[in-house]
Amino acid sequence: MSEPASAADTAPARTDFIRNIVREDLASGKHTHVNTRFPPEPNGYLHLGHSKSICLNFGIAAEFGGHCNLRFDDTNPEKEDAEYVEAIKEDVRWLGFAWHELRHASDYFEVLYLAAEQLIRDGHAFVCDLSAEEVRQYRGTLTEPGRESPYRHRGVEENLDLFRRMRAGEFADGARTLRARIDMAAGNINLRDPALYRIKKVPHQATGDAWCIYPMYDFAHALSDAIEGITHSLCTLEFEDHRPLYDWVVDQVRLHERPELLKPLTDRGVPFEAAKPRQIEFSRLNINYTVMSKRKLLALVNEKLVAGWDDPRMPTLQGIRRRGVPPEALHLLAERVGISKQNSVIDFSVFEGCIRDVLDAKAERRMAVIDPLKVTITNLPESHRESLTFPNHPKDEARGQREVPFSNSLWIEREDFMETPVKGFHRLAPGGEVRLRGAGILKCDAVIKDGDTVVELRCTLDPESRPGMEGANRKVKGTIHWVCAKAGVPAEIRLYDRLFTVEDPDDDEGGKSYRDHLNPDSIRVVTGHVEPAAATLANETAVQFERLGYFAAERHDHTPERPVFNRVATLRDGWAAKAG
Ligand code: ATP
Ligand code: MG
Repeated sequence: MSEPASAADTAPARTDFIRNIVREDLASGKHTHVNTRFPPEPNGYLHLGHSKSICLNFGIAAEFGGHCNLRFDDTNPEKEDAEYVEAIKEDVRWLGFAWHELRHASDYFEVLYLAAEQLIRDGHAFVCDLSAEEVRQYRGTLTEPGRESPYRHRGVEENLDLFRRMRAGEFADGARTLRARIDMAAGNINLRDPALYRIKKVPHQATGDAWCIYPMYDFAHALSDAIEGITHSLCTLEFEDHRPLYDWVVDQVRLHERPELLKPLTDRGVPFEAAKPRQIEFSRLNINYTVMSKRKLLALVNEKLVAGWDDPRMPTLQGIRRRGVPPEALHLLAERVGISKQNSVIDFSVFEGCIRDVLDAKAERRMAVIDPLKVTITNLPESHRESLTFPNHPKDEARGQREVPFSNSLWIEREDFMETPVKGFHRLAPGGEVRLRGAGILKCDAVIKDGDTVVELRCTLDPESRPGMEGANRKVKGTIHWVCAKAGVPAEIRLYDRLFTVEDPDDDEGGKSYRDHLNPDSIRVVTGHVEPAAATLANETAVQFERLGYFAAERHDHTPERPVFNRVATLRDGWAAKAG
């Protein structure tokens, strides 16, 4: 799929600090091509934050004619699941990106193992028998150096033997680790002899029971990047402190100079282009009125506070997609937010603004009534049937036209009528006139009530104001939308709003948690009526219901016979008014 319209050929080249580094590296000849990767851990669904990283990694590869791999960082078997793997692939495709190769850190387990043995032989790693608790005690603090493990000076042969026996499953989980031998006095705690391998007798979603030792993130990630010839390894700022370890691993193992370590891949015919990668950190995307950690999203699902991972209120890409947000809105968000090293919190309205801007251009217009009030036009016969022609898009003639049925019986929005109009109310009132969008000028002659409730308006349509007639342009103050009550189709309309009522749902002041800040009005389901050309829309098609907002035909539940629409966004930001 292509880039969003806003980033078409005419768009100026982007110039954030990472793209500038890439440009310099190409100009100086340091690299002749650019390889990136997007490395999710398959331990949950992707969210809005991940889309920033996806747009960056795939975007840079596309802009500079390089490659981007999708690599599952699957080194933590307890938390990982094949269900997540499939969802992540679907999300990346939905965003419009095609990966060069699909890889898994687990594809490299044999190479990583050989690299670890090499580090042992070179005197850069040792098997340590300290328990996790002891390792913590030995580690020291930010102000105090750590203490060396008593096992730090084991000989190479003993280390190799123990490491092989770790692999063979001879020791219990946690009994031993393989640690890098770096510097227990390093100011950067990540360099104080960090673990490279741990024992975990846990089956792995991809490798099954083949392994009972698993590489640690820093070791696996650096070498996976090196194996794939990643030139620019882009990650979020919390890994800045890990960069010295990343470089240490790459420099000590020197995969690009040691083809013998890559033999397990060569034997399997896996293509690789080992190179020395460079890690560059950028700030995470944070957005207010939402939570984005996988742990909290999982809790929302498990505690049934939302309907599932793809609940349209969730910031997961599955939820955002189901809501009806087009992928181009996420591209636009990534572009507007930009790339920097500055941590910040983006206002939710920036995201909604991206949705509106994309859908304003992209979505066809339709009419729907979500809080219906019956109107009977008394000067048209009961048998009157008419078909009015409406443009699909007011600013784009090429989008064509559609036929909208019209009769003597209509639905209008209940709030477009006021029995006792307040000052400044320009819509329908007893004895008053209003324009029915595209149909003529309506006058309210009588109000029919059941007790206090208005149940029907009896109106006349000025024949001189009909389309094509002399008085068609006669001025009246208000214009309202409508749906023909005879040809319109009843529809379920799901009115979604933000999931949280406060900017920082994570703020745990007063013992509260994000659970206490859920917006009770984040979903309201109503029955309305839509014009036939809305009912027949394909699932996931977004439209603007005139005057109401952007809606999308529900991905799973919508059918032409039983239409279901999700509200994607309102036309204007209702939250700014509330806050101001
Ligand atoms: P979480 O903290 O939500 O559990 P994670 O960082 O553990 O997310 P990964 O699967 O490891 O999730 O992330 C894959 C990639 O996406 C990483 O490179 C990570 O830096 C990036 N990423 C994750 N969250 C964000 C975010 N909010 N903004 C930008 N990039 C992100
Ligand atoms: Mg992570």
